[in-house]
Amino acid sequence: MYLKYSQLITSRTLICARKSLLYKIVPEPSPFRCKKSEKKWQCLNVQTSGFHTTQKLHFHAPVILCLGSILCGSFIRKRWLKLSPTEQEMIIRWYKQRRHIFHGGWKILSAILIIYFLTCIKRDPIVGAPRFVLFNEAQRIQNAKFLFKVVVQSESNVVPHDNHMYKKVARIIKKLTNANKEIFKGIDWDVTIIYRIFNIASIPNVLILPDRHIIILADIFNLIKSDDQLTFILAHEMSHEMLYHPSQTLSLGALSNNVILLSTFLIWVFYPPGVAAMLSSFMYILHAIIFACFKRSCEREADKVGLQLAAKCCIDSREILAFWEIMKMYDELTGASMFRIPFLNHHPSLEERKKITIRLMPKVNQLRDLVGCPELPLRDPRDFLPQYKRELEDELRRNPRLLGMRW
Ligand SMILES: [Zn+2]
Repeated sequence: MYLKYSQLITSRTLICARKSLLYKIVPEPSPFRCKKSEKKWQCLNVQTSGFHTTQKLHFHAPVILCLGSILCGSFIRKRWLKLSPTEQEMIIRWYKQRRHIFHGGWKILSAILIIYFLTCIKRDPIVGAPRFVLFNEAQRIQNAKFLFKVVVQSESNVVPHDNHMYKKVARIIKKLTNANKEIFKGIDWDVTIIYRIFNIASIPNVLILPDRHIIILADIFNLIKSDDQLTFILAHEMSHEMLYHPSQTLSLGALSNNVILLSTFLIWVFYPPGVAAMLSSFMYILHAIIFACFKRSCEREADKVGLQLAAKCCIDSREILAFWEIMKMYDELTGASMFRIPFLNHHPSLEERKKITIRLMPKVNQLRDLVGCPELPLRDPRDFLPQYKRELEDELRRNPRLLGMRW
């Protein structure tokens, strides 16, 4: 993902659009085709109709469960305080007499959970690092379907499949998969280009769902100035998937949510409301900081791996530096960077990403040499930055934005 506005990661699109981008591209008017008898959006309806109930539950579940744990905790505390000292003493005695059973049960449960979580560790196929993946394929696809529906919202929000942007993306994905056959062999990617995220805000962004479905917001094409830049952006998203980042995010999110709910319940049982509210808030903020830290580490890793994948397509890594500069200009011109809180940000700063790219440039050039790429052009792409800035200013004059978003 390139901008910091959305952390959605997920799912499948038009079932009929599931044709592989690898082998079917330019000769057809669109790389995506439904059966002739079906309208494109009807195919999506068929896909999504099976999880309506889950969708409703997902949407409200975190808030309902959080409130539920607070109410349950408060209720138990109030009941306890209403008991006479003798009754309290009796319950404490009852617990103490059986504490070995409780402690033993807790230890067995902990051991089972630890063993189960250890079985959820998978190694990714690129760097071979251990990843915590709680969900199986079917569950990931179901989550992905739900997120797709949330992000895309309606048929009118999807860029028609005969648009030239699809062909461009398909061509570059084919190039990336051909150049990295050992990694992408037998893997299909889906792509949907949309106008607005949640059908509300128009922002330049790209995201990937856990079923290898890349969702591109059409506005990003206003910022991308070359195929090399698009290659890197797509390689970055594909790296997320190959490194199991979307699945890991879902898994850690689910696990941490349960831990937080249990902790919230216990806090409201053991502390008076004022203190409990403070402790709960502190816990939620801490969770947001830790989760943002994890997300930033995923982004750094995807930048690193994406750059190496793109290098095998003979990209000029200076184009990436130019892209970071364009993003910085965009942030400054739209005011998007003003309200960003660094430690809650899910992406490293653009300055940091620029430094990562510079650090990796010698390795990228080595990879280029290894696969026999031509010499880099003499003209540095960053020489065009003043022109890009003028173009961006013109675009923003035509389509003004607030905090990067056009409503
Ligand atoms: Zn990303």
